Amino acid sequence: TSSIRPLVAGNWKMNGTNASMPELVAIGGAFTHGFDVPVDALICPPATLLARAYDVLSSSAVRVGGQDCATSENGAHTGDISAEMLKDAGASFVIVGHSERRIDHGETNEVVNEKARAAWRAGLVAIICIGETQSQREKGLTLDILTAQIEGSVPSGATAANTVIAYEPVWAIGTGLTPTIPDVAQAHAHIRAELVRVLGDGANAMRILYGGSVKPSNAGELLAVANVNGALVGGASLKASDFLGIAEAY
Ligand code: PEP
Repeated sequence: TSSIRPLVAGNWKMNGTNASMPELVAIGGAFTHGFDVPVDALICPPATLLARAYDVLSSSAVRVGGQDCATSENGAHTGDISAEMLKDAGASFVIVGHSERRIDHGETNEVVNEKARAAWRAGLVAIICIGETQSQREKGLTLDILTAQIEGSVPSGATAANTVIAYEPVWAIGTGLTPTIPDVAQAHAHIRAELVRVLGDGANAMRILYGGSVKPSNAGELLAVANVNGALVGGASLKASDFLGIAEAY
């Protein structure tokens, strides 16, 4: 699995306005001029900025993506945004099943599964998020939860080309806390084994990102763990220097 090209993905969440464009210019510029790191880079800004972000980054290798998508292609769904609309605005990826969507909007594994298929329908790569809560971890349920989320959220048509998995322990998101390196290694090995069990050998090539309080100072040790094929970065993706510092860990 060491031949998998890593992906460093930024999730801006509900942050960013026109005033944030210089950060994107800096990220795009670094990846275009002499920033020679062997990773794919992706920024998922809020939907309001997607088209502008695409324009700013179009001359760079940095891709843009959505943070969520509706299940339908179009129709009477006020406030929702379809995968086709994200694609039209320049997206090549979309995050589905982030824990903030699962918690704030009651998204179940079944809904996340349907959103992943909506992403594929539009020609987007789905970044499917999974991860245990603090209380699930304390009860020793982490690996069982990951299995249930893989079985429920990852559609049977998932391939290394159309899907990325992001392991994000809920208690590590935005808290500054991270699992120990052995715990990260155990979770990622389990996810790999379960993906291969459910999807077949092709899943050996699927990217499994780690997410949760990744920053330049801890990226090196986290990204060196077996079966960690990149990072999904929240807070530290808002500043170009931090995002680039994480990518430079490779
Ligand atoms: C995230 O929300 O995907 C995330 C990992 O956030 P943070 O890096 O801020 O913990």
